[in-house]
Amino acid sequence: MHTSDEGVLTLMPVDQGSTLLHFARNGDFVEGGANLTVIERGEGMHVFDTEGRRYVDGLSSLFCAQIGYSHGEEMAAAVAGQMTKLAFSTLWGSAHPAALELAEKLSDIAPAGIDRVFFTNGGSESVESAWKLVRQYHDANGEPQRRKAIARRNAYHGVTLGALSLTGVPRFKETFDPPAIDVRHVEHTGSFRSGLSEQELCAARLAEIEETIQAEGPETIAMIIAEPVQNAGGCLTPPDGYWPGLREIADRYGILLVADEVITGFGRLGEWFGSTRFGVVPDLITTAKGITSAYLPMGAVFCSEKVAAPLYEDKRTLLHGITFAGHPACAAVALKNLEIFQREGVLENVRNREAGLKARLEALRELPIVGDVRGCGFFWAVEFVNGRGDGRLGAEERESLLRGFLPGALREAGLIARADDRGEAVLQIAPPLVADDAVLDEIVDAMRTVLVRSGEFMGLSTAAAA
Ligand code: PLP
Repeated sequence: MHTSDEGVLTLMPVDQGSTLLHFARNGDFVEGGANLTVIERGEGMHVFDTEGRRYVDGLSSLFCAQIGYSHGEEMAAAVAGQMTKLAFSTLWGSAHPAALELAEKLSDIAPAGIDRVFFTNGGSESVESAWKLVRQYHDANGEPQRRKAIARRNAYHGVTLGALSLTGVPRFKETFDPPAIDVRHVEHTGSFRSGLSEQELCAARLAEIEETIQAEGPETIAMIIAEPVQNAGGCLTPPDGYWPGLREIADRYGILLVADEVITGFGRLGEWFGSTRFGVVPDLITTAKGITSAYLPMGAVFCSEKVAAPLYEDKRTLLHGITFAGHPACAAVALKNLEIFQREGVLENVRNREAGLKARLEALRELPIVGDVRGCGFFWAVEFVNGRGDGRLGAEERESLLRGFLPGALREAGLIARADDRGEAVLQIAPPLVADDAVLDEIVDAMRTVLVRSGEFMGLSTAAAA
């Protein structure tokens, strides 16, 4: 309880103090409400809260902690080395060695032909920056009328106003309408419940994109943006041929293809970039999160020689800049992160353990609450069903299961995973990319416990779970 200036007693949220929590019902945590989990320490692939509870981080701190939590000393040394030499300098018409070296290393690991890097501070900034690079490209090529974008329903591309226009989750957007960018949203590649074969799904989704382009006028479309595996909706993998199809359509109509790899970049699918796994080189790639394994915040947009070319024309200015982007300390951490990835064989670890992880997760299908298991690499979702009709959870069931029951059940099971219903209702995991079989087992075992309890909570038979 606090006394305000007027002397009136007001309830203050004691646990979160003055902090407004992001994408949270802040009112849930006021005095007498839910306990706020306060994470204070990380070790290996586990984190510990202020009450001493240990959790296995099955979500890599929102898809960020690719190398886990035990490289603090090495990272701190990299930061100290940089800070004592040069704490800060911008990339506004000048440069510093850490950013130059990082850009070179990043262009070495990027797909062939993608060799320019624009630094940002995070995912939303990367997406906004990609849009600006795309617009400048079309303007420079005498096509200023290309001002529309195509994105996919339910996809999350960030929250700043440009990125939010591309995001396809209506309830995140409506309050902030009108959108800054004119976007047409097309269907994603979720196959569960589609009733279509993989081939049919691919053909249908590509046909819709082509029809949208035709309906809008091909000369008005600037870019298509998609995640290699869409997160919101629950790890929606593309059907075979989908990404090559996107590439072909984009090329045919002079549209730029942007892969939003804020999650899939830096190893999540067992490749530096997820688009590589699906056989395509996009024109631009947006990244963040794993670029530093979140030891410090950073993002980057990668683009091809073709996209960057107009920016090198005489007297043309890149009309975009962000003070802190490419910060020397963050660049030093990103360089160290790349070194650790190579030294510890992080990509190989994901590749070698993917099949085992998949098999363990597939076994969860025997639980009555599990309708689908999908994903790839170290990026997986289980879709909930309620055992009736098409199995889709109704609004009240989502509310009581995802927001009522699951937070406590996950906490008790010592598992950090994501219960999400921006699309269908799912439980998602994305383990740190250095996880060994023991950690993956721990995650899936805890998931099973939570799913069994969820089934009981929903009144579904648990016989199969025994
Ligand atoms: N794009 C994708 C695919 C994301 O998953 C996210 C965030 O999770 C973003 C963009 C926005 O990133 P940020 O939260 O760093 O702004």
